[in-house]
Amino acid sequence: MVAAVAVLRRRWGRRVAAAAAVGLLLARCAVVERFASWPPAGWRLVACDVGQGDALVLSAGPGSAVLVDAGPDPALLARCLDELGVRRLPMIVLSHLHADHVDGLPGVLGRLPVGEVLVGPLREPAGQWRSVRRWVDRAGVPLRTIGAGAGGRAGAVCWTVLAPRIVLHGTDSDPNNDSLVLSARVGAASILLTGDMEATAQRLSFGDPQARAGLRADVLKVPHHGSANQDSAFLAATGARFALISVGAGNDYGHPAASTLRTLRRAGMSVARTDRDGALAVVAPGTPPGTGQPGQRCPEPGANPSARLAAERDPVSVVRRRSGNGS
Ligand SMILES: [Zn+2]
Repeated sequence: MVAAVAVLRRRWGRRVAAAAAVGLLLARCAVVERFASWPPAGWRLVACDVGQGDALVLSAGPGSAVLVDAGPDPALLARCLDELGVRRLPMIVLSHLHADHVDGLPGVLGRLPVGEVLVGPLREPAGQWRSVRRWVDRAGVPLRTIGAGAGGRAGAVCWTVLAPRIVLHGTDSDPNNDSLVLSARVGAASILLTGDMEATAQRLSFGDPQARAGLRADVLKVPHHGSANQDSAFLAATGARFALISVGAGNDYGHPAASTLRTLRRAGMSVARTDRDGALAVVAPGTPPGTGQPGQRCPEPGANPSARLAAERDPVSVVRRRSGNGS
């Protein structure tokens, strides 16, 4: 079988004995490295290594997936999906219309069967919106606008939109702040997908305790590639044990910010990032007790994070593929 060694920080190096010891100590909360086959068995989410941008693949069943954002590069997206064995996409969600989240769309539209494309209510930037409409129309795929409260099931993926509840205007970046925020459950793993939302929307949309409760998840897709513009209370309210950062090596934006990395670690999260770790897979059992099974009702967002379902053994882990785009 595949060997896995816990790798948490680069400075620990690759000394096998030390890594093995660390792995034993931190097995409950570690990012492990996959030396052989990809994807790992039981993957529920993969953050593709697409450089500076987001492309997140949720496993809906054999050969089927929900795609959240398409990254900046059609070829990189197509390669990631091919490696995962994805042959159809019942649903594509675009968190917002910036190029690093939508320009990869031609890598799937017209190439794989796609059920529908879902977008948020903001039509900015206008040029990107025109491009998205053109690609979607050409592929003959339905396009639907959604906001907070939307949700449903696509195969094994339960999903609920938490934001935007109102469309914000006049912020530092309206496209970023009006990002669709999704709570997803795939098998035993609960995942919070946050697009590029910034501190303004994090405070306005999730300031009250009821909204905060819906944020709880095993895995946080860190907003906006780990930029410095974060509300630390929002990040902590997720209660996540794993933080995934989708980011390009040597990017011009300084992502991820050292301050954000510190905040995530202080909140108890193991941080993995595509620029150093390559594609990242969330691995979890497919059928947690009472949730996520075909025909069953989807759980409420934030309900029963798996840590509380399995006190003895943590059922969710994160596997890094290899060195990332910056290595
Ligand atoms: Zn972005």
